[in-house]
Amino acid sequence: MEFEALGKLSSCGTIPPQLHRKEPRVSELNQLAHEINICQRCRLAKTRTCAVPGEGRSDAPVLLIGEGPGYYEDQQGRPFIGASGKLLTRLLQCVGLTRQDVFITNVVKCRPPDNRDPLPDEIAACRPFLDRQLALIGPTLVVTLGRYSMARFLTGQTITRIHGQRVPMDDFTCVPMFHPAAALRNPQWMAAIQQDFAALAPLLAELYPQHPVLAAAETASRAAQQTTWL
Ligand code: URA
Repeated sequence: MEFEALGKLSSCGTIPPQLHRKEPRVSELNQLAHEINICQRCRLAKTRTCAVPGEGRSDAPVLLIGEGPGYYEDQQGRPFIGASGKLLTRLLQCVGLTRQDVFITNVVKCRPPDNRDPLPDEIAACRPFLDRQLALIGPTLVVTLGRYSMARFLTGQTITRIHGQRVPMDDFTCVPMFHPAAALRNPQWMAAIQQDFAALAPLLAELYPQHPVLAAAETASRAAQQTTWL
């Protein structure tokens, strides 16, 4: 399917580069992005430069959910474009995917000051946005990145214990993973996130049967397991 960026929304970046199709969910996702961009529901609105609604395919089989925007994301209004984002892009590449094949968003859509952890009331205020994205995109696989994202779907779990496991939910499979920023700090978790991504290869090959690179997804995943990134 063809992608086309929908154009400039504001000085905070482009509208998410969703498929330019006359399909209700594209306009609903764009409407939702607009609501996020002007949201005043919590204190993070006062300190943000740009809100970061998320970006990717409107019909993505895979939804990746991080924690919240960092400095660069806040400047540009796009998710995962700093150091963590570069790692995430490489992890996707290792299983034959580009960022345009998936949808990437966060639990909170505005940067917590000094990259502090999001507070419970901030997560609660932002939750309806994530819920609507989930309902509109309708992914088959949700990859949570970090503990705040995991906690949205799985309670009473620790990420060190269940990372990489496929957890069946009502409408999709959830796979919790370490946050890329944590992986960049800790070689053990770097190895874990690489392996967890690589282990998705057979499932991804089912989800993206037309994807030219994914025909060789398992080969790519074996290569990823042998790559050292620290
Ligand atoms: N970390 C996140 O959790 N999300 C981003 O968008 C960037 C860094």
